[in-house]
Amino acid sequence: MEASKTNFKQLIANTEGYYGSYGGMYIPEIIRENISGIAEAFNHYKDEGDFKKELAAAYLELSGRPTAFTPLERLTEHLGGAQIAIKNEGLNHTGAHKINHCIGQVLLAKRLGKKRIIAETGAGQHGYATATVCARYGMECVVYMGKKDYERQRPNVYWMELLGATVVAVEDGEQTLNDAVIAAFKDLIAHPDDSFYLLGSAVGPHPYPAMNTHFQKIVGEEIRKQSMATFNKLPNYCIACVGGGSNALGMFYEFLDDSEIQLIGVEAGGYGLKAGEHAAKIAHGKQGIFEGYSSYFLQDNDGNISNTSSVSAGLDYCGVSPILAHLYDEKRVMFSTASDDESIAALQLIAQKEGIILALESCHAMAEAIALAPSLSKDKLIVVNASGRGEKDLFITMNKFQPEALQSYIKTLQK
Ligand SMILES: *Cc1c(COP(=O)(O)O)cnc(C)c1O
Repeated sequence: MEASKTNFKQLIANTEGYYGSYGGMYIPEIIRENISGIAEAFNHYKDEGDFKKELAAAYLELSGRPTAFTPLERLTEHLGGAQIAIKNEGLNHTGAHKINHCIGQVLLAKRLGKKRIIAETGAGQHGYATATVCARYGMECVVYMGKKDYERQRPNVYWMELLGATVVAVEDGEQTLNDAVIAAFKDLIAHPDDSFYLLGSAVGPHPYPAMNTHFQKIVGEEIRKQSMATFNKLPNYCIACVGGGSNALGMFYEFLDDSEIQLIGVEAGGYGLKAGEHAAKIAHGKQGIFEGYSSYFLQDNDGNISNTSSVSAGLDYCGVSPILAHLYDEKRVMFSTASDDESIAALQLIAQKEGIILALESCHAMAEAIALAPSLSKDKLIVVNASGRGEKDLFITMNKFQPEALQSYIKTLQK
């Protein structure tokens, strides 16, 4: 008997929104019709010919797919073990994998006759990708941001506004991501008929986890073909960072039923193990219900959501995809963590060995590959999902490597 005969792909594709005891649709009645309408439309259109054609054309013409699959020869030689390659999602339009599910959702919103897209964003990357597809498809776009995030992520606010979006600074609560989510939900409650809530990861109430996984699964499909073309074999290990889980599921979905391929999700270890010092939900969280779904959340003993910390804004979130929570329980996906410092070290190593500047999020996955490769034989293949490129992290990484140069540059701007 094989260890596992579960058909995970079918299980996830055919769900009513539950993955084991995770997932669900914990939402106020007043938006149930809106969200159920999205679930029905998604079910109807995902296999429909014209929708699939339009999606494929947008991946090709707007996003620039397929993205490159790049063997990292100098890094591999330097580490002296398994072959390492990356899937370079950073080459997508707007610089990360996020555009994949933004395109899918905006196409669905159009089919539903919606005129208005609502989104929330923490660091601004999801808002930026959303504002981009809204401009491209002629949709009104309103993005909610906690006031603190609005101020510290000013460059992304600027891009969103340049693209024609309205960015609302939310002054309630902690003035960060969770407050922006509440404000966005309130907006949907006030405008359930004409608005579409465009969600930024494989989280939230059904159908968002399944839907965003569906729009991201192109990543793993391309990896299968590209790995065969480049190495004449499939990866032994697939590694991706995990914030909410969309880039990880995009990479893993295709390989869920290839049980010999090891799938590893890497969470943000931040700078310490205490609550508030990291964003490792699987490692340190427990099951709860928040923001419309059941999954692992970082919370205290009374169930209050904890603060999170990560050098990479995209991983700095308190919850994780219910699909990943289930795949972890089923032992199909393994998890580990990478710290802020390990990720920053990976950034510099890959830049200097390979000429590729990774997003800090992706550096978490790369740090895991760097730790793993030397313990494996040369015939093994590790593929890392490079979820984004690193230009967006300029102010954070320059402040680590060249703080004085950054300060004096900022002074020149003030003249
Ligand atoms: C947002 C983001 C992530 C984290 O989100 P997931 O849903 O976990 O993929 C990872 N990498 C980059 C570059 C991002 O922008």
